[in-house]
Amino acid sequence: MINTRGIADEINDEIISLRRDFHKYPELAFTEFRTASLIARKLNDIGCEIKIGREIMDAKSRMALPSKEILEKEFKRAIAQGGDTEFLNKVKGGFPAVAAVISNGKGPVIALRVDMDALPIQENSSSRHFPFGKGFASVNTGVMHACGHDAHAVTGLGVAEILMKFKDKMRGTVKIIFQPAEEIICGAYPIVKSGFLDDVDRIMAIHYYSPWDPGLVSCTRGQNGHLAISRFDARFKGRQSHAGSKPEDGKNALMSAANAVLNLNAIPRNSNGATRISVGKLNAGTSRNVTCDEAVMEIETRGATTELNEYMNENALRILKASAELWDCKLEVKPMGSAPGGSSDDDFADEIMTYAKKAKTLTASENQRNCGSEDFICMLEHVRKCGGKGAVISIGSGPGGPHHSSEFDMNEAVIKDSIVFLSGFIFECLQK
Ligand SMILES: [Zn+2]
Repeated sequence: MINTRGIADEINDEIISLRRDFHKYPELAFTEFRTASLIARKLNDIGCEIKIGREIMDAKSRMALPSKEILEKEFKRAIAQGGDTEFLNKVKGGFPAVAAVISNGKGPVIALRVDMDALPIQENSSSRHFPFGKGFASVNTGVMHACGHDAHAVTGLGVAEILMKFKDKMRGTVKIIFQPAEEIICGAYPIVKSGFLDDVDRIMAIHYYSPWDPGLVSCTRGQNGHLAISRFDARFKGRQSHAGSKPEDGKNALMSAANAVLNLNAIPRNSNGATRISVGKLNAGTSRNVTCDEAVMEIETRGATTELNEYMNENALRILKASAELWDCKLEVKPMGSAPGGSSDDDFADEIMTYAKKAKTLTASENQRNCGSEDFICMLEHVRKCGGKGAVISIGSGPGGPHHSSEFDMNEAVIKDSIVFLSGFIFECLQK
């Protein structure tokens, strides 16, 4: 084992202040311009080879991309908020992905995926909320790092900095991927399609998890794996008419949508495993005396397996079509991202947990349940297809408010221990 602890101690103040900086300037999916540019600057400063923007993102594979106007506006904001101008130009137009490549001769290729996007949530502004009390709460209205992706990003940087110092003692290649748009399940696919992962033998993703005690570490496995997910928008198009004098001339999109919402929730449960459906948003109509001509819904389905998610998906589509037909409306369905379901490869997860028990930096805990969906499974499946293996590592970061809420917070002390753990494990993989 190498002494990664000493370097982690040295860089810790910088890592924590960078985490707080990312927290203060959170950025939504595909607009992580400032974050990505500062990550690239830091990687460049410590001497890493960098891949950035279109080099590791296939343009055509990006889904649910914000409009040109939003991308332009957010790019200007990123400049105004101190993004690095040299690297900003490389991520412009919705390409905010960065990767560090640390290579020393022939050997295995080990990848670590971290993410860096925030959520559309207004951060809590009570002095009891740690980021607010310490003066690093979000300054971007309605946007918040409410899932710890700011901490994931700096963890990736810390691992890169340590491994650069031991580069001469390793054989092989480390790829640390800073992925955008995880929250909308649309950031992994363009990276996969760029071919950047084709030579990867082992891939890991990390996620801090505040409901668990700090420093607990576990890999998702088997039944406790991540749910498959599909996200899509449904648009019902009808026809306006005077609701009082000529209701018979109208085609009521609101009625179609209302029928759909109720019946989507009536899809029978499946005896093969867990399923979910959620209509989280519905916009319809203009006024009480106008027959509604347009209704738009945001929908997601999930399933314990990709097959179960497909079951939900097919039934949802059938119900949407039937609801449109019922009120003589037209239907458009627009996919907004999806990820397969899945878990870690057991033997690779075993290796990680064996290392955890030996290194004692984090507390190994078998098969904790942290169920949700994870864009990373898309990368994992690709690496598997190319003959590699992978694991999703969850690390306890409590105490802190609930994930995806305005009160989310995490224990910053776990960042240093996680950097020590991950750099130590990757180093060991490249000794063989
Ligand atoms: Zn998350």
